[in-house]
Amino acid sequence: MRVAIAGGGLAGLACAKYLADAGHTPIVLESRDVLGGLVAAWKDEDGDWYETGLHVFFGAYPNMLQLMDELGIGDRLQWKEHTLIFNQPEKPGVLSRFDVPDIPAPFNVIMSIIRNNDMLTWEQKLRFAVGLLPAIVRGQNYVEAMDRYSLLEWLQRQGVDERVNSDIFVAASKALTFINPDDVSATVPLTALNRFLQERYGSKVAFLDGAPPERLCQPMVDHVAERGGEVLLKKPLKQILLNDDGTVKGFLIRGLDGMPDEVITADAYVSAMPVDVMKVLMPQPWQELEFFKKMQPLEGVPVINLHLWFDRKLTDVDQLLFSRSPLLSVYADMSNTCKEYANPNCSMLELVLAPAKDWIDKSDEEILAATLAELQKLMPHHFGDENPAKLLKSKVVKTPRSVYTAAPGSQACRPDQTTPIANFFLAGSYTMQRYLGSMEGAVLSGKLAAQAVCRQHSASEVSPAVNPDPVQVPS
Ligand SMILES: Cc1cc2nc3c(=O)[nH]c(=O)nc-3n(C[C@H](O)[C@H](O)[C@H](O)COP(=O)(O)OP(=O)(O)OC[C@H]3O[C@@H](n4cnc5c(N)ncnc54)[C@H](O)[C@@H]3O)c2cc1C
Repeated sequence: MRVAIAGGGLAGLACAKYLADAGHTPIVLESRDVLGGLVAAWKDEDGDWYETGLHVFFGAYPNMLQLMDELGIGDRLQWKEHTLIFNQPEKPGVLSRFDVPDIPAPFNVIMSIIRNNDMLTWEQKLRFAVGLLPAIVRGQNYVEAMDRYSLLEWLQRQGVDERVNSDIFVAASKALTFINPDDVSATVPLTALNRFLQERYGSKVAFLDGAPPERLCQPMVDHVAERGGEVLLKKPLKQILLNDDGTVKGFLIRGLDGMPDEVITADAYVSAMPVDVMKVLMPQPWQELEFFKKMQPLEGVPVINLHLWFDRKLTDVDQLLFSRSPLLSVYADMSNTCKEYANPNCSMLELVLAPAKDWIDKSDEEILAATLAELQKLMPHHFGDENPAKLLKSKVVKTPRSVYTAAPGSQACRPDQTTPIANFFLAGSYTMQRYLGSMEGAVLSGKLAAQAVCRQHSASEVSPAVNPDPVQVPS
């Protein structure tokens, strides 16, 4: 079966990979000249990489880890020490660590919180633990039901001290969703926390050993091509063409560089495009259907990724850092954390600016100046009057609409991978799966979409009386 997939981000590529494994022929149509979508990266004039986002992988990413193992690239993840490191705004330049001991979950995480005495008092820790109990004991159903509250509302309802919010959850919320606890659905951080509390290595962090398009996306392209599929760049979907019965007749692809538009036909069609694009390209007759109508409130959230190259080493920390700055979210010295970006003498800091809604329209110069001012608070010893660190160059990458905005109530808007249209499917981290707007969520959504395509195909091809072997897509 030939399957056309619009979108060459992680969801579209994973979908193609699993369809190819199941013996089908995927054709991925990516609008840009680079693979990866939100993990896309480019080389500057000096050959240095810059990226759409600073990306880390977690131990609690089973589908991503399985995918990488299946591709034979599991060793490209550089696992770091099991610890979470926070800046302390009230003690500029001083870091606070939550070292997670190598004992079973959830005792490892609890121990890391008990042992950290920089950030919370005993009373705050106790009230935090009591407040969290329902989420731990009552499980994911309770966590899903909490989607009606913002994280801040939920914390207040649970009687958790405001210090826990300002010390831990502002940083966690910004890191996971690029928005603050008063804007984010309580379901999101509680889901992540539950995973971390249930899996021994769930909160352990890894960095990819190089740029995602080459080190993660290209192996999927090769895998698909070896099995007869194709991944094509500069093929933007312009229109979804319909048959009289509302099913898809073809994908109309905009011709670029003077080429005419073309129609790609297939047996099944998948959108692995961002939700904002899917909403714009949604055929008019589908807009009346409840399934598609409920997606309407979903919207990508703005975020900015900065790269700063310095004339010296600013830190030897080989880990993700939570800045706890009002302007910034997480950051890392990629010259320490990533093999391909390694430099023993000079730092390359990659920093995420979030929430970015008030910054996304500002000039690169303004964004850079504000970031450098924050950096002086995070690392004051490098920016004093005497011989301050010199910025050699910088790159600002703005994404006005990235992952879906995880506002309260958004869980109900996230669509399934199977749609009411018999030959049309959805993939993308915004679609319903339990890993939220993440790389893991994107990969899982692609796998679920591939499974849905295979199920539909076997149901329509084979009469139930024949009782066929089900098509095997690894779950
Ligand atoms: C700054 C930043 C930091 C992040 N950090 C992390 C992290 O540390 N850990 C983590 O797990 N996740 C992180 N994420 C989230 C993660 O990157 C995404 O959830 C994931 O990559 C989304 O993949 P996707 O395939 O669902 O969507 P996308 O990556 O958005 O892919 C959609 C694709 O569709 C293409 N497309 C758009 N329009 C068309 C069209 N008309 N025709 C054809 N193709 C089209 C796009 O070009 C794109 O390639 C981060 C994201 C950002 C922006």
